[in-house]
Amino acid sequence: MAYNKRFDGRKFDEVREMEAKVGIIPRAEGSAMFRTGKTVAIAAVYGPRGVFPAFLQNPKEGRLKCVYDLLSFSVTERKRPGPSRRSTEISMVTEDSLKPVLDLTKFSYLGVDVYVYITQADAGTRAAGINAAALALADAGMSMKDLITSIAVGKVSDKIVVDLDKDEEDHEDGATDLPMAMSTRTGEITLLQMDGNMTQKEIKEAVEMGMKACLDIKKVQVEALKAKYKGAGK
Ligand code: UDP
Repeated sequence: MAYNKRFDGRKFDEVREMEAKVGIIPRAEGSAMFRTGKTVAIAAVYGPRGVFPAFLQNPKEGRLKCVYDLLSFSVTERKRPGPSRRSTEISMVTEDSLKPVLDLTKFSYLGVDVYVYITQADAGTRAAGINAAALALADAGMSMKDLITSIAVGKVSDKIVVDLDKDEEDHEDGATDLPMAMSTRTGEITLLQMDGNMTQKEIKEAVEMGMKACLDIKKVQVEALKAKYKGAGK
């Protein structure tokens, strides 16, 4: 069936209301919250610190470890606590999304750990988690070429849409979901996954829509960093 109007009234290329804040966890080296609609992610950065077991230490550069978890009561149907195949996969793609902008060469033998928790989930959690993690790394003062900005785009019935919520993801037999992440400064895409079916033309349209959305999301991220340092040095 044609999907002519989005359930929540958004335009097809419109993201949900977004909000970001850094410095939310004082004991962490860096931390951030990122919200899109009803999806909320928090991220905390610890380190550089020792890496154990020692065989994981790298003399050439520090090791980035990302741990993603969707909390049990973040979803309507309680999720079994603890790691899963899904959380292992999302932890890995979070790491891979962030690594290209990070300079870890100063941290030989050491590790930087990033913990991402989804406290409320309404689809698009890996993208929200990556946005929060990038902000937390910047808040920790890590040497970075750029922030990483992430969004999920997809296809609901016959329409390409940006930032799908759970109702859209579950529509009919399930939407096609295409999470992506990029450096808006260099244009490098650091995450591109797809769950579902789209033609080559549709994928191109979706990615272009996502890239445009990332430019706006980046503004939300940058504002969050600026807000923390407002008035500093005066
Ligand atoms: N979800 C859920 N229970 C789970 C895992 C996921 O209810 O155990 C929901 C949650 O709202 C999540 C959505 O399904 O955001 C889509 O999950 P997916 O694996 O596609 O990743 P995401 O879109 O969150 O990056």
